Amino acid sequence: MPQQFQAYLIGKNDDGQRCQLTQLDDDDLMEGDVTVRVEYTTLNYKDGLALTGRSPIIRKFPLIPGIDFSGEVIESGHPDFKPGDKVILNGFGVGEEHSGGYAQKARVSGDWLVPVPDGLDTRRAMAIGTAGYTAMLSVLALEDHGLEPGDGEVLVTGASGGVGSIAVAVLGKLGHQVVASTGRMQERDFLVGLGAAEVVDRADFADKPRPLARERWAGAIDVAGGNTLANVLSQMKRASAVAVCGLAESMNLPTTVAPFILRGVTMYGIDSVMAPLERRKQAWQRLASDLDPKLLDELSFDLAFDELPRAAVDILDGRIRGRAVVKLP
Ligand code: NDP
Repeated sequence: MPQQFQAYLIGKNDDGQRCQLTQLDDDDLMEGDVTVRVEYTTLNYKDGLALTGRSPIIRKFPLIPGIDFSGEVIESGHPDFKPGDKVILNGFGVGEEHSGGYAQKARVSGDWLVPVPDGLDTRRAMAIGTAGYTAMLSVLALEDHGLEPGDGEVLVTGASGGVGSIAVAVLGKLGHQVVASTGRMQERDFLVGLGAAEVVDRADFADKPRPLARERWAGAIDVAGGNTLANVLSQMKRASAVAVCGLAESMNLPTTVAPFILRGVTMYGIDSVMAPLERRKQAWQRLASDLDPKLLDELSFDLAFDELPRAAVDILDGRIRGRAVVKLP
């Protein structure tokens, strides 16, 4: 007999999309060979866009939002998973075109799941969530480029947000000289506590960019796009790299070819949604070993399941510090 469970459901009619907290049953779940009892989910920038409808993130209606979750397998027809296994899901269009984590239950393809690595539990996995995992994909891209501790200052923009705070914590633990850029200078102590050697005002990157400026950064992780990224590019050291993962300021990039052809700067695009499984496992394993759990607990906070719609507005308005963790009721 189908069992009922609580979920957010986003529907759409002529007036636009509407999100409500409701009761669903197993027949409302989408296709998949693994069913998970969701223990934790979280709030990412993209979830904020989906819940508020500010961007067309949801591409199939009705749909359970939530781009990531962690929990326990309760049914599996997939050879790699059995009931009782603890798993993480993020990406693969979940919460966009396949029902996601804002529900007590989820049914997905086992090919999309990653086992919770040793050193993490389901709560900490969602304290990291898509944002933290994206921060680690960005760190891996810079490392693959050759960045090493001792090379010089590494800039992280949007440092008080989800991606930024975890990027600061990981780079700091790895021994990099991290410079955190933020629009919230009142968060200086928080950012220094995470591992920033210096905190700068994001207003420093707001002006119309020049093609080239004084070389400063040995590496950079940018969540902002727009003028911020264009200014960062103009300040990169010769042959250095920027990991580009967000658009918190703008989708536009008003730059020139100068940083690329005159300083050999490289820009790595970070796509967390369709990253291959081996890269995902590598990123989650590195998060288990290279992110101080005490710092992770400090940069995350509990958010009640019924507070998600309100917090969705807060994250889009840049009022969320660090990472929100949502325990399913
Ligand atoms: P958060 O809202 O938690 O953090 C974004 C931060 O960006 C804010 O906290 C703020 O930090 C800064 N910011 C906000 N507005 C502006 C602005 N106008 N100019 C410059 N900086 C600004 O979001 P997340 O960390 O979860 O996500 C960050 C970005 O990364 C988003 O654009 C998101 O869509 C993208 N993303 C991309 C992924 C991918 O696969 N490529 C995966 C996950 C996220 P502060 O106050 O410190 O300046």
